[in-house]
Amino acid sequence: MDKSLTADGSTFTAHKILFATESTGLIHQYQPDLNTDFCSTVNLYFTAATSPVRQPILLLNTKKSLVNNVTVLSDVADTYSASGNALISVTIVGINNDEISTLTQKVKTELTTWFGKAVESWELLKTYPVQYALPKVPSARHELPSIEFKIKENWYQCGDHLLYGSLNAAMRSGRLAAELIVREG
Ligand SMILES: Cc1cc2nc3c(=O)[nH]c(=O)nc-3n(C[C@H](O)[C@H](O)[C@H](O)COP(=O)(O)OP(=O)(O)OC[C@H]3O[C@@H](n4cnc5c(N)ncnc54)[C@H](O)[C@@H]3O)c2cc1C
Repeated sequence: MDKSLTADGSTFTAHKILFATESTGLIHQYQPDLNTDFCSTVNLYFTAATSPVRQPILLLNTKKSLVNNVTVLSDVADTYSASGNALISVTIVGINNDEISTLTQKVKTELTTWFGKAVESWELLKTYPVQYALPKVPSARHELPSIEFKIKENWYQCGDHLLYGSLNAAMRSGRLAAELIVREG
C-alpha cells in the first residue's frame, strides 16, 4: 500500500492512488517533468439595474482587446442575484497589474462600445484574480496512451493538463484513468 500527503496534512492509505491535482499541485513533486505552464485570468463581477444581454449566453470577444468574455449570470438563473438586479461576469485574460479602479474604468470604457452608455452606471461588486486558471498546453490532445496516466505501480494521474484546459478534458482524463485502474484490477 502507498501513502500520500495532502495539502492539509491528512494522509490516506489505499491500494491504488489517483492524483487529480492541477499540474503545479501535489502531482508535481512526483512528476517533476510535467508541463506546469498555465494561463491566468481576472474576473470582475458587476451589478446593474437591467441585464445588457437578456439571454443565458456567453459573449466571447473575437477581437484581441481587454475583455475576453461577458455573461450575465442572473440571465442563467435569476436566483444568482438576491437583489433582483443583473449580476454580470466579465473575464479578462492574464493577471492585470492596474489598480482595481483603473482596470474597472478600462473595462467599462470597452464595454460601453458593446452595450452603450448604460455601462457607466454598472457597479463593481468584486474582483477575483485567478493565477492558475487553465493549463497552457502546446496542443490539445483527445487521447493518451495508457502509460501516461500511470506514475508507477498503483499510482495514477488525471487532470485537464494532460489533455487540454476544460471541464470536459478533466472528466475525460478521469474516466480514462479510472478505466485503466479497473483494467489493471
Ligand atoms: C474562472 C474559470 C472559469 C472556467 N470556466 C470554464 C468553463 O466555462 N468551461 C470549462 O470547460 N472549463 C472552465 N474552466 C476550466 C475548468 O475549471 C478546469 O479545466 C477544470 O476545473 C480542471 O479540472 P481538474 O480536475 O483537472 O483540476 P482542478 O479543478 O484544478 O482540481 C485540482 C484540485 O487539486 C487540489 N490540490 C492540489 N494540490 C493538492 C494537495 N497537495 N492536496 C490536496 N488537494 C490538492 C486543488 O486544490 C484542486 O481542488 C474555468 C476555469 C476558471 C479558472
